[in-house]
Amino acid sequence: MQRDIVIIGGAIMGASVAYFLREEGFAGSIAVIERDQSFAKAATTLSCASIRQQFSIPENIRLSRFTLSFFRELKERFGAGADIAFREKGYLILASEDGRAILEANHAVQMQEGVDIALLSAGELEARFRWLSAEGIAAGAYGRSGEGWFDAHALLGLIRKSLKARDIDLVQGEVRAVERQADSIKAVVLADGTRIEAALVVNAAGPNAGGVGAMAGIDLPVEPRKRSVFVFEAADRFDDMPLLVDPSGVYVRPEGGVYITGGAEDHESDGAADPADFEPDWSLFEERIWPVLATRIPAFEALRPGRAWAGHYDYNTLDQNAVIGPHPEIANFMFANGFSGHGLQQAPAVGKALAELIVHGEYRTIDCAAFGYGRIREGRSFRELNVI
Ligand SMILES: Cc1cc2nc3c(=O)[nH]c(=O)nc-3n(C[C@H](O)[C@H](O)[C@H](O)COP(=O)(O)OP(=O)(O)OC[C@H]3O[C@@H](n4cnc5c(N)ncnc54)[C@H](O)[C@@H]3O)c2cc1C
Repeated sequence: MQRDIVIIGGAIMGASVAYFLREEGFAGSIAVIERDQSFAKAATTLSCASIRQQFSIPENIRLSRFTLSFFRELKERFGAGADIAFREKGYLILASEDGRAILEANHAVQMQEGVDIALLSAGELEARFRWLSAEGIAAGAYGRSGEGWFDAHALLGLIRKSLKARDIDLVQGEVRAVERQADSIKAVVLADGTRIEAALVVNAAGPNAGGVGAMAGIDLPVEPRKRSVFVFEAADRFDDMPLLVDPSGVYVRPEGGVYITGGAEDHESDGAADPADFEPDWSLFEERIWPVLATRIPAFEALRPGRAWAGHYDYNTLDQNAVIGPHPEIANFMFANGFSGHGLQQAPAVGKALAELIVHGEYRTIDCAAFGYGRIREGRSFRELNVI
């Protein structure tokens, strides 16, 4: 078998790259290879499906802004019935006195990018959000528009369905080997022995991206990191509640008639997850999350815990930021990896950027050069400070 482009991983990143290749006019053959088309363990479907503009570096803001415009064009792109239940309720990122300078610096970057974020004092926060306690809080940044949450399954479904109509092969199979000769990738080999020759390969393997890189002899510092999400009920409903991020890292937001929360893991000290471990860590909820929720939102002292799930972040251990674009020497191996907790919202933008690079030989809409693999090899970090 031979294909012009082989994409390894068919969840949101792989599907977005394939979609935009056709949008940019690529007429060659494309295969998207996915080992589990139920996506039951993909980061995409286990995520919190939220989108924000509040990043610390302009490139990440631009990626999310592109996705926001993509959300606003869904019906034109996918038809009148297209709906991902986008709830534009904002993010509210809180800072203690220690974190105030960083919050303000990030806000200045966001303002330069034209984002609609308000910087509020502790008093303004309590006046604006009646359910909030600003104890220990110096300031908060609130996204008045362009931020919120949506249905990740619906987004993935829309894009993948459109691939079938665009003559893209959706292949069920697990890539077990990537054949490389000197500085060129020749083929991928699936678990059932099928060999697919490829002129170009895109790594869209999410938390397994480091493993796929290793198959090609490429060192990519992306590993799975387990992240638990807990569902709870509370007697009170707060219709104006954004996705709130406490200075401790704990986040909470409404989800229909319940709430979801997480963010208690220690990014610095938790290591790579066992790829088969999807067991939520309830001790995080009991010991770290609930006390924070009860302090920040006094009505949550009496919450009722419900179910929980765990997924894996596609965690870039160097700088918690994406790796996008070609390998500097192995030019027919492309990365779309390492999004460290913000890849769902960036996927349409990354798909667009990579497709432009492949089809036109340059980034046209969003310059992703700063995300290139060169920095990985040099050990030079391009750090995003707002990792949630
Ligand atoms: C708990 C949690 C909350 C999150 N919340 C958010 C959020 O609110 N907003 C946000 O933007 N992001 C969030 N993220 C991050 C986001 O989900 C990911 O960055 C994004 O989904 C990555 O997409 P992906 O397609 O690269 O990876 P995945 O969705 O993991 O897909 C990779 C696919 O590759 C397949 N694959 C892997 N190896 C092979 C192989 N060898 N052969 C064939 N197929 C293979 C897998 O089966 C999988 O389907 C969250 C993640 C988690 C875990």
